[in-house]
Amino acid sequence: MKKLQLYNTLTRRKEPFKPIHDNEARVYTCGPTVYSYQHIGNMRAYIFADTLKRVLLFNGYKVKHVINVTDVGHLTSDADEGEDKIERAARKEKKSAKEIAEFYFSVFKQDLRKLNVLEPDVWPKASEHIKEQIELIKKLESKGYTYTTSDGIYFDSSKFKDYGKLARLKPENLKAGKRVALREKKHKTDFALWKFSEKPGVRQQEWDPKNFGADWPTGFPGWHIECSAMSMKYLGESFDIHTGGEDHIAVHHTNEIAQSEAATGKKFVNYWLHVAFLTFKGKKVSKSTGGLYTISELEEMGYSPLAFRYLCLQTHYRKPLAFSFQNLDSAQHALERARRKVIEEKNSPRDGKDKTQTYLESFANAINDDLNTPLALQVLWQVLDDESFASDTKLALIEKFDLALGLNLSSAEEEKVRAPEEVKQLLEKREELRQKKKFEEADKLREEIKARGFAIEDTPSGPKLRRLKK
Ligand SMILES: [Zn+2]
Repeated sequence: MKKLQLYNTLTRRKEPFKPIHDNEARVYTCGPTVYSYQHIGNMRAYIFADTLKRVLLFNGYKVKHVINVTDVGHLTSDADEGEDKIERAARKEKKSAKEIAEFYFSVFKQDLRKLNVLEPDVWPKASEHIKEQIELIKKLESKGYTYTTSDGIYFDSSKFKDYGKLARLKPENLKAGKRVALREKKHKTDFALWKFSEKPGVRQQEWDPKNFGADWPTGFPGWHIECSAMSMKYLGESFDIHTGGEDHIAVHHTNEIAQSEAATGKKFVNYWLHVAFLTFKGKKVSKSTGGLYTISELEEMGYSPLAFRYLCLQTHYRKPLAFSFQNLDSAQHALERARRKVIEEKNSPRDGKDKTQTYLESFANAINDDLNTPLALQVLWQVLDDESFASDTKLALIEKFDLALGLNLSSAEEEKVRAPEEVKQLLEKREELRQKKKFEEADKLREEIKARGFAIEDTPSGPKLRRLKK
């Protein structure tokens, strides 16, 4: 069986996974900025992180997983300018910053549950870790990595030798270009660690660093520093895996590495994993391209959230995922068919061979090859379609696969369809006719039942009703 290999953005290679602590994998995932609804492009990143976690569990590792919640400091422009996204949403919706953050965070958690994403061990919030962030900035200050401008404290990227190693930024591109407005920044890749409030008392969320032993004006943390402060607090100064979207590579993760390694002098993270974009009509989803659906919106259209998860698994995480309703339809259809197969297997068990070892090996070889979920789904289908595989061992194997896939296949149960009395009577009559081999008349009743919104599926354990989609 192939051992787990992961593609590391740091080295641009697949590498065997070796955790720092024996049998435990420590994973940090950049979480949501909770100022609005998360769309399916965002959700792809969390399904990916969950698949990674599940594959680690499948391989017998203990997993410590942290997803942060950005509820302060993420500005509308990544160039340390613009408004704080949470403060702006609070003003627009006439609510407090706390209410905004709590509301969108709870919607996000609901969506994760619908997608069968396992909860992380810790959900740290930026606003609740001000002390840790200030302490980290103080450390950088004492080591000479910072400078102060009129609007904040900045990290001097020229002082950190390996700045840009993750994104392979070329040194000549790092020098201030003529056309880049630097304002008071010394280099265009320098970034804010602490921003001063323009007029103290106006923002809802601001802190006086004097309460934490730092002599800076009142303000709030920059966006990048929270991820370094909180990941190191919960996972240690060096930990195993950090995940995020591929758009995090050039700035956010580059800055996380610089400030963490400058502060500790140690390697921050061993494996960096990045998930590609979700595309709609050939382009990354965005306001102008469209495709910014939420999980609830898909549900209102009659799709199961797990159909979206299935769709995600059909594309390797490092490739762009082409979202379309046609693709989602086929994913939903495939998932329903898989669940039906599991139910049939439970209802009418078959004798046969135990083929666990062969299939388990193919599955592990696929999933352990940098999470090749499209190939792993193919193995799942070989198992589902294999009629010479004994049901009891087959079902146990599917349950094992599902630990990694998270499709809730093993819990597939006969859907309790509540049909009106007249439909039930028609179904009974049809059964009687079929027993008497009066198939033509029986088929007429099938049509009558269909006209009332129900389909009949004849299974080995008798006819079952299924509600037709409107
Ligand atoms: Zn982050």
